[in-house]
Amino acid sequence: MAIDLEQELAVAVSAVRSAAKVCRNVQRTIGDVATLSKDDKSPVTVADFASQAIVCAVLSDRSAIGAIVGEEAAEALREPEAERERKLVVEHVRSVRGDETDAEHTLAWIDKGGFDPAGATGPYWTVDPIDGTKGFLRGDHYAIALGLIDGGEVVLGVLGCPRLAGPGGAPGLLLCAARGRGTEARALFSSTPPARRAKVNDLRSASEARFCESVEASHSDQGRSARIAARLGITRDPFRLDSQAKYAAIADGLASIYLRLPTSAHYREKIWDHAAGSIVVEEAGGRVTDVFGKRLDFSRGRKLEDNRGVVATSGAIHDAVLEAVQATRPQTS
Ligand code: AMP
Ligand code: MG
Repeated sequence: MAIDLEQELAVAVSAVRSAAKVCRNVQRTIGDVATLSKDDKSPVTVADFASQAIVCAVLSDRSAIGAIVGEEAAEALREPEAERERKLVVEHVRSVRGDETDAEHTLAWIDKGGFDPAGATGPYWTVDPIDGTKGFLRGDHYAIALGLIDGGEVVLGVLGCPRLAGPGGAPGLLLCAARGRGTEARALFSSTPPARRAKVNDLRSASEARFCESVEASHSDQGRSARIAARLGITRDPFRLDSQAKYAAIADGLASIYLRLPTSAHYREKIWDHAAGSIVVEEAGGRVTDVFGKRLDFSRGRKLEDNRGVVATSGAIHDAVLEAVQATRPQTS
């Protein structure tokens, strides 16, 4: 099927902007964010569910592509003991949509994100309604990430980063990329400041680089990144931030290296954690590979089965960074 990239980009921008509003509204009442516990014990908040409901609702209303792979499922919210959270999710969805949406519609929207991409032949969306939930709960960086995958490639990505600055210093950075068309930076919460191109910085020597990594030591091997930095002659402290805001920092020239180094031989990265982020960096002139220098392969279902970790850079320094990554390779990866 031929995808109207411009049209789909406009829909994705509207979905991410609305979802960001929901997240901000919930964050304003962070004191009473109801936290459920998922099997993996990561915090899932009312905002995750409300954000996914909003994104799926906007896509269902306006996108020509109906398949959505979302991080969340409504199952836990359907439990009788989740009544309080369910009510809050519905209230937040209503207040941003400005309608009288009921619980059944809200839960059905969340479950629209249940598409199984394994063996898919057509395009599908993938959404992380709040990437970096832990950052969100701490009042730090988080992101709303929406990507469109077609033929194993990300063809469009919209990344909302409420805690980074947009054009003209406006609160919230929205990065929008379509394959072959570059990355644009807009304000996340307002359409007034004019959009501008996002471009990686033109650093030639890795020693000058500012490098980003996860706040969570269990998500990326921080000891190894310190050895890589030493090898490259980098003296600046790592820029630790949650979520795909790290990709945004590379795409918008705030940093030059993002290292995501496997902490276990078994973990596989999820497509929604990288789809939007990787395309906004590539279309801003940067490079994204795994720790072995392979491009990220989005054709393998919900996970990047054929990749290990992530290395994203402003481009010119990529090979030097990969060399240092390989030189510090532990026995386990
Ligand atoms: P970050 O904020 O960059 O640390 O990334 C948050 C994401 O890390 C979450 O959305 C999880 O899907 C993902 N994650 C969870 N466990 C791991 C792990 N062991 N290694 C890498 N990523 C992980
Ligand atoms: Mg995530």
